Amino acid sequence: MAVSDIEEKKNESISFVEEFVKTDLEEGKNGGRIQTRFPPEPNGYLHIGHAKAICMDFGMAEKYGGVCNLRFDDTNPTKEDTEYVDAIQEDIKWLGFKWGNVYYASDYFQNLYDFAIRLIKDGKAYIDEQTSEQIAEQKGTPTQPGVASPFRERPVEENLDLFEKMNRGEIEEGAMVLRAKIDMANPNMHFRDPIIYRVKKVPHHRTGTKWNVYPNYDFAHGQSDYFEGVTHSICTLEFVPHRPLYDFFIDELKGCGFKMNEAEKQTEDYRPRQIEFNRLNLTYAVMSKRKMLALVKEGLVDGWDDPRMPTICGMRRRGYSPESIRNFIKMIGYTKYDALNDYAMLESAVREDLNKKATRVSAVLNPVKCVITNYPEGMKEALDATDNPEDEQSKHHEVEFSRELWIERDDFMEVAPKKFFRLTVGGEVRLKNAYIIRCTGVTKNQDGDVVEIQCEYDPLTRSGMPEANRKVKGTIHWVSCHNCIEAEARLYDRLFSVENPSADERDFHELLNPDSLSVVKCYVEPYLKEFKPMDYLQFQRTGYFTLDKNSTPEKMIFNRTVGLRDSWKGGK
Ligand code: ATP
Ligand code: MG
Repeated sequence: MAVSDIEEKKNESISFVEEFVKTDLEEGKNGGRIQTRFPPEPNGYLHIGHAKAICMDFGMAEKYGGVCNLRFDDTNPTKEDTEYVDAIQEDIKWLGFKWGNVYYASDYFQNLYDFAIRLIKDGKAYIDEQTSEQIAEQKGTPTQPGVASPFRERPVEENLDLFEKMNRGEIEEGAMVLRAKIDMANPNMHFRDPIIYRVKKVPHHRTGTKWNVYPNYDFAHGQSDYFEGVTHSICTLEFVPHRPLYDFFIDELKGCGFKMNEAEKQTEDYRPRQIEFNRLNLTYAVMSKRKMLALVKEGLVDGWDDPRMPTICGMRRRGYSPESIRNFIKMIGYTKYDALNDYAMLESAVREDLNKKATRVSAVLNPVKCVITNYPEGMKEALDATDNPEDEQSKHHEVEFSRELWIERDDFMEVAPKKFFRLTVGGEVRLKNAYIIRCTGVTKNQDGDVVEIQCEYDPLTRSGMPEANRKVKGTIHWVSCHNCIEAEARLYDRLFSVENPSADERDFHELLNPDSLSVVKCYVEPYLKEFKPMDYLQFQRTGYFTLDKNSTPEKMIFNRTVGLRDSWKGGK
């Protein structure tokens, strides 16, 4: 099925998430408001999985006249950095979305701290001095109740005092935590006195050394949604078991009389609603930030934006368009079941979009010389080339024909099988935008390799001439030796050689595809000097390419975005 067909199909049926949103709006919930958020933790670069969440969070707000805010979930200073904050914003904009406001979970540290104090005072939270291992051991199993901590009944005053000490930096990391006192026998394990605050003596990228205690995800996320007036808190399936706790803390917050936002003041029944969809997982890729960071740190890839990485910046550097990523996400859709998405499907979405956009140019990647023996020496001729035949308004550019050309070695065979429609001794072929040529002979080196092909051209067959309608089966591309530019082409393949590296027991280093990058010398037509990184190009008959960010006029570097057709034979 073509991408456009799938797109159409998706337009007919809306996702289950959208059904929820529509119903809420129809029922007038939240005063008919829709507000979503995209909540990345600034501890890494965004990847294509995040793009799926972005398309949903921003897409719903856009479609139903609401707002989507960007909220940095920066509650763990150990791994977070402003470098990531900036990169995340750039990627969202590039994907084509606009946020209303930029918020930070750290904006709410004071509110969350006050709320924690409130819970302690109400006897609903206590300081535990056990190690995280001991706490984990006492959690029990889904069928077996947990064991109460020996510190569970600590008096309120002592809890208050210790929590303040934790925050003043008087307690070592790991020595104490604050736990909510809920229910050690609850069938939902998340209710068994979850840890809500821990000590971290690491400067925070925004709040510096002001805080020595930081809230855990479950104590920060829902409350942040609530403070901001989020109506639909859309996230991925692993948060399904967290949802009751999400609701629980919001109830507590409402019970405390925290009325932090306009939304609450407008509608008494306001509360954010969490909805979960399946994650995007891609074949031959890993999307764990830990593993991606390791690849970057160990120099196994050329940074977060290495064109083989599943990151948004990597895909951008590789030459993917934002529309192709968005179309791919439409194709895979949103469900309640986890699945592994095929890289080949992403690539087909890229091809389909670039086919409409890419400028067609000539480049020869594996060159062999072709001399047109009956073409006058020193003569040059400007021929017309269409930039994009898919576009009726397309620009044109000139290509200069001359006596000596480079053609692809693969486009010639001395002894060819019947179905070989390219160049062969005695055979005819059309040179793209130029003439029909006939091969008259070859020159070989001592090893018997062809080093030069001799041809004769037919001056009456120039493209566009009426007489040119002579039938030849094949058309091949070429560049002129006198003015072509030598450049570097980087040909990328899957980064991993197994389909599902995340599910593989072996260390991920062992699963890397040793042939994921090959660098070749190529010859390109001089028109390419006019282009810049992220311009969409098609090297005719070869694939889609773009200029790399490190390309210079002296040394042009091209990244292969994707081949023209799926040539992947499976993980061999
Ligand atoms: P980690 O928790 O390891 O830091 P994460 O992938 O959960 O990584 P976040 O920055 O917390 O990263 O993610 C921000 C948002 O993007 C979350 O709402 C999360 O559900 C969503 N998201 C992350 N990965 C995917 C994915 N593979 N598919 C769909 N959504 C995703
Ligand atoms: Mg996360």
